[in-house]
Amino acid sequence: MANSKVKVVKFGGSSLADAEHFRQVAQIIRSDPNRRYIVASAPGKRFPADTKVTDMLYRLYEMIRSRETSQTIEEYYRQIKQRYLTIIEELGLSFDIGGELDYILNAMCAVSGRDYAASRGEYLNSLILAKYLGYRFIDAENVIYFKENGTFDESKTYEALSEELRIHERAVIPGFYGVMPNGTIKTFSRGGSDVTGSIVARAAGACLYENWTDVSGFMMADPRIVKNPCAIRTITYRELRELSYMGATVLHEDAIFPVRGAGIPVNIRNTNEPDAPGTMIVAEAEDFDANTIITGVAGKKGFSVINIEKDMMNAEVGFTRRLLDILEDNDVSFEHLPSGIDTMSVILSTQVLNEHREKLLSSIERRARPDSMSVEDGLALIAVVGRGMVKAKGTAARVFDALSRRGINIRMIDQGSSELNIIVGIEEHDFEAAVESIYHEFVKD
Ligand code: ASP
Repeated sequence: MANSKVKVVKFGGSSLADAEHFRQVAQIIRSDPNRRYIVASAPGKRFPADTKVTDMLYRLYEMIRSRETSQTIEEYYRQIKQRYLTIIEELGLSFDIGGELDYILNAMCAVSGRDYAASRGEYLNSLILAKYLGYRFIDAENVIYFKENGTFDESKTYEALSEELRIHERAVIPGFYGVMPNGTIKTFSRGGSDVTGSIVARAAGACLYENWTDVSGFMMADPRIVKNPCAIRTITYRELRELSYMGATVLHEDAIFPVRGAGIPVNIRNTNEPDAPGTMIVAEAEDFDANTIITGVAGKKGFSVINIEKDMMNAEVGFTRRLLDILEDNDVSFEHLPSGIDTMSVILSTQVLNEHREKLLSSIERRARPDSMSVEDGLALIAVVGRGMVKAKGTAARVFDALSRRGINIRMIDQGSSELNIIVGIEEHDFEAAVESIYHEFVKD
C-alpha cells in the first residue's frame, strides 16, 4: 500500500487565503511530480484582523435563519463572493464562477443546512485551485461518506475514493465535508480538512501525507509561553497524542487515525518557508535527540482535585472500584488518580466537575464514606513527553529540579509505565513559569 510514490498534500486556509498564496502553493505542488492529490481548505485570514471565509459562511447562515433583510444578506454575501473573485482575477484565470456563486446563495436561502453553508468555502476554493493547476476537481460529496448516525463511513468512502483516484492521476479534493445517506452535506468538526487529507492519503495508498500550514512544524513548547521554541523534527503518533491532549494543536485530532492505521507518515510543513523540513509524524522512531531528550512540553489549566481520606483505605478491598463506579454512574471522566496509603485524589477538569459537583460529592460521601474530603480548584497539568526518556537517566529529577529552582510547588506527579511522559500538577498561577523552566532545562539556546 504505502510503498507507492504518491504524496497527498493538504493546504490549510492561511496557505490559500489570497492569490499570492495560490501561486506559492502551485509552485510547491509543481516542484514535486509525486504531489498528485491536493486537499484544499477555505480561504483563511490574510491579516490578523481578517475573518476566515468559513466563519463568514456560518455568519451568513445565521443571518438567513434569523430572517434579516435580503439586502443585508446580499450585501454580506457580496463580501464573501469578492474574496473568490479577487483570487480569480489576480491569478488571471478566465473562469466564470458567477453561476456557482448565485446557486449557492439560493440553495442556502432555500433548504440547505448549516453544514452545507460552511462547506462551500472549501468547495469554491478547490474549484479555483483545480482550474489554476489544470487538475481534475473531485467533489468530496461524491467520495466522502457519513453514516446515518453521523460518523464517518470508512468502507463506503475508501471504496469510492480509491476508485476515483485510480482513474485520475492528479486531482484537487475539497476538505472538511462529505455527504449523508440522504444526500445532505455534512462537515467534520472545525479544522476538518486535515481529516479529509488523511482519508485521501489512505485511499491513495500514499507514501506521505504532507500537511502545509503557516508554522514550520510542531513546536517543542507553546510559542505564546516560550519565545522562539525549537521545532520538533520527528515525533511518534503516541507522543503527538500526549502533547495534543495537553493542548498543543497543529493537526486535527481525528486526522491521525486514517494514516496511522495505514502506516503513512505525516509531514507538517510551512507554505511560507517551503525549504524548512517541518515535523515528521511517524509510527515508530528509534532515535531521539540526545541533546534535548524530551520531544516536547505542553499543558493545560482548569483542573480540580478531589482529595479523599479514609483510615485503613489500603486494607479496604474494593475501595477504588467503588470510587470508579461512582464516577461512572455520574458520567464523570477523570484525568489521574494518584493515591497514598490512606488517601486518594481524583484529578479532573473543573468544567466536568462543575457539571456534576453536588451530586458527585454527595455520592462519594454516601457510598465511599470517607473520613474527610476536600476539593481544590485552580490546578494546571503539564506533560513532559519524550520517547527518549526511557533510555535517559535522571529526566524526572531534572524536571523537578527545574521547577524547584523556580520556586514552584509540585502538587501531583504521574509517570506512565511506558515512560513516554511525566505529568506534573501545579498551581495555575505557576503554569507559564513552569513550562518555561522545564523547556529551558532541556533545551539550551
Ligand atoms: N475551513 C474549515 C475551518 O475553518 C475547515 C478547515 O480549514 O480545515 O474549520
